[in-house]
This record gives sequence, C-alpha cells and structure tokens, in this order.
Amino acid sequence: MPLAEITSRIAKAEQNAGRAVGSVQLIAVSKVQPNERIEAVLQQGHRCFGENKVQEAAGKWPGFSEQFEGVDLHLIGPLQTNKARQAMELFDSIHSVDRPKLAKTLARLAQELGKCPELFVQVNTGEEEQKAGVLPADADAFIAECRGLDLPVKGLMCIPPVEEEASLHFALLAKIAERNGLQGLSMGMSGDFEKAIALGATHVRIGSAIFGARTY
Ligand SMILES: *Cc1c(COP(=O)(O)O)cnc(C)c1O
Repeated sequence: MPLAEITSRIAKAEQNAGRAVGSVQLIAVSKVQPNERIEAVLQQGHRCFGENKVQEAAGKWPGFSEQFEGVDLHLIGPLQTNKARQAMELFDSIHSVDRPKLAKTLARLAQELGKCPELFVQVNTGEEEQKAGVLPADADAFIAECRGLDLPVKGLMCIPPVEEEASLHFALLAKIAERNGLQGLSMGMSGDFEKAIALGATHVRIGSAIFGARTY
C-alpha cells in the first residue's frame, strides 16, 4: 500500500476521533525489509522508522542517516542490557523498557553519555508469558521507579495478543498512561492502527501495510 494511502487513513482516523491531523506519529517499521523498499520510503520524504533488533538496525541505519537528513529511529523490540549502550547511541526512542535491571542500565548510561533517547515503558497488557513488558499490575510502580532514576519516560507501549480484540488492550494502556500522567501511547499496527488512534495512540507502528509482507 502506498505511503500516501496510509497517511491519509491516519488523517481520517485522527479526524474521526476529533484529534488534530498530524498529531499521530507514523513509525514505518522497516525490520527485515529489503533496503530498496526502505530507500523508496525515504525518497518520499518519510523519516520516522522502527526496528526491532539492535544489530539489524546498526547494519543499515548509519548509512541511511548519512544519505538522508533527519532520520528518527525507534527501537520497538526487546532490549538486552548488553546492547543498551549501542541502542542508546543508535536510536532516538526506545519503546521496550520493561524491567528494573534495564532501567538502571539506561540510567547509568544516560549519565555517562550525557543523553538519553525518549523512553516508552512496554506493558504486557495481555499478560502473555512469552511476551515482554511489565504486567499491568506492576506498571505504576515501575513507571515511578524509572522516574526516580531520572529517565525521560514519554509514554507506554503495548502489543495486544493476536487473537484478542485489540481495542480492549489499547483502552487499558490509555488508562494506565492517564493515571500516571504520561502523554505518549505507542500502539496500533498494520491491522488495527485506526482503532488505536480512536483510543488515543500518539505513535502507530506500521510495517507490512507500508512495505509489503516480510519474507524471513
Ligand atoms: C513488526 C512490528 C510491528 C509492525 O507490524 P505490522 O503488522 O507489519 O504493521 C509493530 N510493532 C512491533 C513491536 C513489531 O515488532
């Protein structure tokens, strides 16, 4: 689907929700995609991208950033503490802060590097065993802990269980954000971003709808 079609669907969803057009940030999820497809989207002027693996992003984004000015790169996949430094140097935002050990590492590195990406706390709204994220019941305490470490927490992120109604998870995430005074809501993917925008998403993470199916 052409990028313009996605941006117009986003604009329509913003209008339907009574929200300002342009208030939702589109993160084009470029993981696994061939470089030509990514370059085509860059050529159209889009600059905000998401990757789920530090190593993969480190292989392609420094080159693109040299070629195209103003790239805004988001890490949307799980982060191991031993890759935290590299991630902080490479990404402008990290959407997968989900445990005290990682928060402490990020805080220490932020001191050392004198900068820190914008952070989102990932919440495992479906309480799925295999999925990353803090449990909803632990979210308030973990957000407070991050703030206690002076981390720049901008908002929350979730990935709803595939077989459940996504809106319930988006609404839960929005509720947790609101009671914690957080503005950012990273939620909504190719199949459900309009629902996410209706429920307050500030960042939608869209991959296959823009780039086509991923072939692993
Ligand atoms: C891959 C991925 C996406 C994009 O998924 P699509 O269904 O291709 O839009 C969004 N968020 C996360 C965390 C992902 O890993």
